[in-house]
Amino acid sequence: MDTYDLIVIGGGISGLTLARRGAAHGWRTLLLEKAPRVGGCLATHRFGGQAQGFWVELGAHTCYNSYGALLELLDDDLKGRIQARHKAPWRVWDGRRLQSVFARMHWPTLLPALPRLFITPKAGQGLEAYYSRVMGRRTYEALLRHAFNAVIAQPADDFPADLLFRKKARRQDIPRSYTFEGGLATLAEGLAAGTAFELGTGVEIQGVARTDGGFELATGQGALACRRLALAVPPWEAARLVEPAYPELARSLARIAPADVESLAVALPREAVRLPEVAGLIGVDQDFYSAVSRDVVPDAAHRGFSFHFRPGRLDRAAKLERVARVLGVAAADIILVGERLNRLPALKSGHMALVAELDRLLAGQPLALTGNYFYGVSIGDCAERSAVEFKRIAGGDHG
Ligand SMILES: Cc1cc2nc3c(=O)[nH]c(=O)nc-3n(C[C@H](O)[C@H](O)[C@H](O)COP(=O)(O)OP(=O)(O)OC[C@H]3O[C@@H](n4cnc5c(N)ncnc54)[C@H](O)[C@@H]3O)c2cc1C
Repeated sequence: MDTYDLIVIGGGISGLTLARRGAAHGWRTLLLEKAPRVGGCLATHRFGGQAQGFWVELGAHTCYNSYGALLELLDDDLKGRIQARHKAPWRVWDGRRLQSVFARMHWPTLLPALPRLFITPKAGQGLEAYYSRVMGRRTYEALLRHAFNAVIAQPADDFPADLLFRKKARRQDIPRSYTFEGGLATLAEGLAAGTAFELGTGVEIQGVARTDGGFELATGQGALACRRLALAVPPWEAARLVEPAYPELARSLARIAPADVESLAVALPREAVRLPEVAGLIGVDQDFYSAVSRDVVPDAAHRGFSFHFRPGRLDRAAKLERVARVLGVAAADIILVGERLNRLPALKSGHMALVAELDRLLAGQPLALTGNYFYGVSIGDCAERSAVEFKRIAGGDHG
């Protein structure tokens, strides 16, 4: 059987960045993705029909110049397609009116709490415990809880405080916040393009077995072999795949639960929407966590929004009613719609102890685990994990 130096399972940003590193190292590298396209949560919806050429993000929307481990992998073509995002405010929507984020801060309790920012450790604390202490409970409940829910697209109270807004170096030659021409799918497509590594899309890995020389993979269309294997799939899927060879690792991975978000994107003629220009809306006690706007990459003819709904609450018609109400349009006017179910890991305070356990179980193995459940959920965090895991398996004595 043909043996690869490295097979990467999962073609989201974690898998793409790891495969790039493997190929650049000179390894014969294959990346396998079960969907027909690469990108995973980089899920730009490109409209057809009346809005041909217009796009809205159904998953991630923004990259930052602090995503160093990603930026160092971009070739000149991809760098040339970076598009800076325009400035527009985030607003709060409570079901009746739009408010600025400042209007929801409770200054009399916020200001006296602020000095605690400098003395309160983040490590081991959830967002609620940490931020209600350093910014005051009233501000946490009126604003921050909802803003954090919007940022991580899931209930955020117990999300690890040390995994959000980690301090990282910024690249001065790159815009502070940016996307790519054609949306973030362009980033995924660009990383997969060319001949850096072999790519198989529409290939779902059904099982992984450990062999003397590495691993054997069952694909449904035959078997594949590799010396090193990288799993860049969600943790519950990684748990299923490693279970036969690494049962202890599987048990640890299975402790991370999924958090679903039902995303729905709409495009409308620019003149139809009454909502002022925004970067996005934070939902306060709404059926949606956030509504992310395309206004930061303005288009002459259309405006677009992606509403990230709490799971299991509304059917499609009810979602469209809700969207119409917020945008100040008739539901019947919304004819251009895209949908996607996103699934993110629900990380909990104390998560770094679990990461340490995973790393301990991986030590010395020709198996890499990467994804959005190590250093944080952002694209930059995924790229960073892939860089660290690549270094480990490339530096090991198992090849
Ligand atoms: C609504 C939303 C908004 C976000 N906004 C931002 C943002 O603005 N900025 C930011 O930095 N981050 C953002 N994020 C987070 C970020 O997008 C994700 O955490 C990141 O893209 C995850 O990448 P990944 O490669 O680890 O996983 P995924 O993107 O989930 O990719 C995993 C891939 O593995 C494939 N796969 C699974 N099982 C198998 C199998 N058995 N065989 C083959 N393939 C398999 C899947 O099909 C998928 O393509 C957002 C996320 C969401 C959901």
